[in-house]
Amino acid sequence: MCGIVGYTGFRDAYEIVINGLKRLEYRGYDSAGIVLENNKNEVELKKAKGKVSDLEAIAGNLKNTSHVGMGHTRWATHGVPSDINSHPHVSNNGKIVLVHNGIIENYETIKIMLSQKGFVFHSQTDTEVLANFIQYFMDESGKDFAEAVRAALSEVYGAYAIAALHVDYPGQFVVGRLSSPLAIGLGDKEYFIASDASPFVEFTKEAIYLEDGHMALISLDRGVDIRLIKDNSKVDAEIQQLQISLEQIEKGGYDHFMLKEIFEQPKSIHDTMRGRLLLDEGIIKMAGIWDHLERIQAAKRIIIIACGTSWHAGLIGEYLIEEFARIPVEVEYASEFRYRNPIITPKDVVIAISQSGETADTMAAIKLAKEKGAFVYGICNVIGSSIARITHAGSYTHAGPEIGVASTKAFTAQLTILAMIALKLGKHNGNLNNTEFMQYLYELDAIPKKIEEVLASSHDTAKQIAEEFVNATNFLYLGRGYNFPAALEGALKLKEISYIHAEGYPAAEMKHGPIALIDENMPMVIIAPKQGYYDKIVSNVQEIKARKGRIIALVNKGDEQVASMADYVIEFPETSECFSPMMASVPLQLLAYYIAVFRGVNVDQPRNLAKSVTVE
Ligand code: GLU
Repeated sequence: MCGIVGYTGFRDAYEIVINGLKRLEYRGYDSAGIVLENNKNEVELKKAKGKVSDLEAIAGNLKNTSHVGMGHTRWATHGVPSDINSHPHVSNNGKIVLVHNGIIENYETIKIMLSQKGFVFHSQTDTEVLANFIQYFMDESGKDFAEAVRAALSEVYGAYAIAALHVDYPGQFVVGRLSSPLAIGLGDKEYFIASDASPFVEFTKEAIYLEDGHMALISLDRGVDIRLIKDNSKVDAEIQQLQISLEQIEKGGYDHFMLKEIFEQPKSIHDTMRGRLLLDEGIIKMAGIWDHLERIQAAKRIIIIACGTSWHAGLIGEYLIEEFARIPVEVEYASEFRYRNPIITPKDVVIAISQSGETADTMAAIKLAKEKGAFVYGICNVIGSSIARITHAGSYTHAGPEIGVASTKAFTAQLTILAMIALKLGKHNGNLNNTEFMQYLYELDAIPKKIEEVLASSHDTAKQIAEEFVNATNFLYLGRGYNFPAALEGALKLKEISYIHAEGYPAAEMKHGPIALIDENMPMVIIAPKQGYYDKIVSNVQEIKARKGRIIALVNKGDEQVASMADYVIEFPETSECFSPMMASVPLQLLAYYIAVFRGVNVDQPRNLAKSVTVE
């Protein structure tokens, strides 16, 4: 996690770095720092615990003082958030300044070695060790700056994206990467460095995404010189054309990115389907699937690996693929899968889901699956991300940049991709006849319109209900079938942004334990669409009613039975059961959002979380 920004060129480096850090704050926000080179071969450094806005308060005097600088917004892994542990970190001789995203796993051993040589450490971070390790190589073996960075990186392991400056090498950055992202923006007489392209999108549309095991020396006179860390051999960089725009990464009049992203869902789902779901031709066109159809179709089983919200999407993917394609599916937490010696064979197909495409545990699980010969298909939102590059094939969700830490539009876009995969496989292997296939195609195509309706009809209701429950301390979310994972996701949304304890359960499981929790204070959110075991859900609602639970029911428009028993009702349009989680998720996102807003939480930056989990 954490965000890195760097700039060298003709503009005010302070502005670029501070604005860039604000855009990257979704990646971590417990502390922030900035370093700028002045024209006396010195650096000015300010850093502090807190947000980028706190940094601005102490570093504002650096405005318009430099054209070269870099900054960092942190999500602590080693050492508490504090002024001293904030980045940038400086080497003992005061010359090397370093920002780092990730974890240096062997930092303890290096720290002991350096301490024996007389180095002293002021912070608890692994990053400060790396800064001094670079100094060590310059001192001991007279290496130049870039060569010393290369020597240090050759000996560390773990995950990193780093950017380093040296006061004796003005105007030069040395950057490197292993498992954490780093993009280099190529302008006209200026270069940018950032964890993603958002800090420089208004200045250039050309970028190089550094690959694992690569480093680069960046300066105005020498350009971008990319090398392999292992042997210093030169690498020809692939220049990518950026597809994101400034509007996509701004709030556009909404109070929070999360609310903007909730409201973007009709468009983002439409974008996910665009050029793929072709109603007129009656086909689903997905190159990633099409090119490997036989392999996927022949799979003995499909294993879906993911974390967090993507894991919930994976559970719905399991229902979809098993129903339509009749291929057995298992859904695994990437973090568990990779460490439990799983049985994977070359006959397995693995689907890895990650919004950022950088999730460390998912990446490691993919590597493991590939080693064992499985075919790995990636579903990511961020174009050019690591997962997109290391998988055999895949699909982008095309939901556009998701900046709110709580995932919303990426989730519904993932469901859209999974639905298209399941339908395509089902059609191809004959489990779905053409009439059925076309019927689902029309229904899926209608989802963006229906989400527009649910946004319009549920927005005020969700807000009113949120006001009622602002002081609740627990919530239970229940659903059956496809809506059980939707209940899990609804509970997760509430937990992560409002800090209210919430659990999701299959409605029928209630009797096996959670029913004991129900009393007149317990809010119970029940997803009860007409399609899919409605009568069973009605019984569950009655059981809750009998125990005086406070019922918030999500029902289809015109529902009377469940609605009449509920204390609060949110309606959404009818659709097939398999697509109903997309509809139900929207009011649940709004409910969590408004409860959090009424509780005064910074919804886009909830405590302890960061969006892109690039550490294990
Ligand atoms: N490991 C470093 C630290 O704890 C960097 C963490 C990050 O990626 O923000 O400071």
